[in-house]
Amino acid sequence: MNTAVSVRNLEKNYQMGEVTVRALRGVSFDVVEGSLVVLLGPSGSGKTTLLNLIGGLDVPTAGQVLVDGQEVSTLVEPALTEYRREKVGFIFQFFNLVPTLTARENVELVGELADNAAEAADLLRRVGLGERLDYYPAELSGGEQQRVAIARALIKRPYLLLGDEPTGNLDYETGLLVLQLIREVSDEDDLTVLMVTHNAAIGQMGDVVISLRSGEVEAIKENESPLPPTELRW
Ligand code: ADP
Ligand code: MG
Repeated sequence: MNTAVSVRNLEKNYQMGEVTVRALRGVSFDVVEGSLVVLLGPSGSGKTTLLNLIGGLDVPTAGQVLVDGQEVSTLVEPALTEYRREKVGFIFQFFNLVPTLTARENVELVGELADNAAEAADLLRRVGLGERLDYYPAELSGGEQQRVAIARALIKRPYLLLGDEPTGNLDYETGLLVLQLIREVSDEDDLTVLMVTHNAAIGQMGDVVISLRSGEVEAIKENESPLPPTELRW
């Protein structure tokens, strides 16, 4: 099985005036291609920092990130932007849709930047929004907006799907539907997914759960039978 993501001795410091915040203190792990990995930890444990380094949104202080065999940690612009554009789909807690564009236009906007993009309307149908193509974000529920965001993340046919608390702003029932969709695309497209959460129950749906605490890996656990998202309770 191929390694999709390899993180080696990764460190990230933030300088806050006189104070150095050590957000990541030497994190190492591998992610197998096609797996769904949950990065679990309390607030402030370094989850977002780690995801941003893997996604090329920020650069590490020390250590390495390899994605699909390519060293991301040493890339500089414009190569970093190109890496993000071609390889990575992002989903965020607050959806981050453009309010003045319809669902279809939000998805198309990202598709236009990619070679080999999928069809926006097809993807929106796949996430259950075939009847809402021309709705604006404000006319959609939170769960629907997150489904648009998932379609937007998938349109470039990314190598890696990264989610930062994608259900953090959704009610329980809606959150489960979004998690189910994430599980589905991971399975059907053999997509590698890294999803950040502070919710231990969500860990049960991961093929692997990597627990972070204070910028360090506390545990790495493989779930032999990950729970279907519909069976998660919190
Ligand atoms: P999590 O996503 O697990 O809540 P973060 O990765 O956001 O954790 O933050 C890890 C630590 O780094 C926290 O102590 C946080 O305050 C600090 N931190 C994160 N981003 C910045 C930043 N841009 N500047 C300074 N400190 C930061
Ligand atoms: Mg965070």
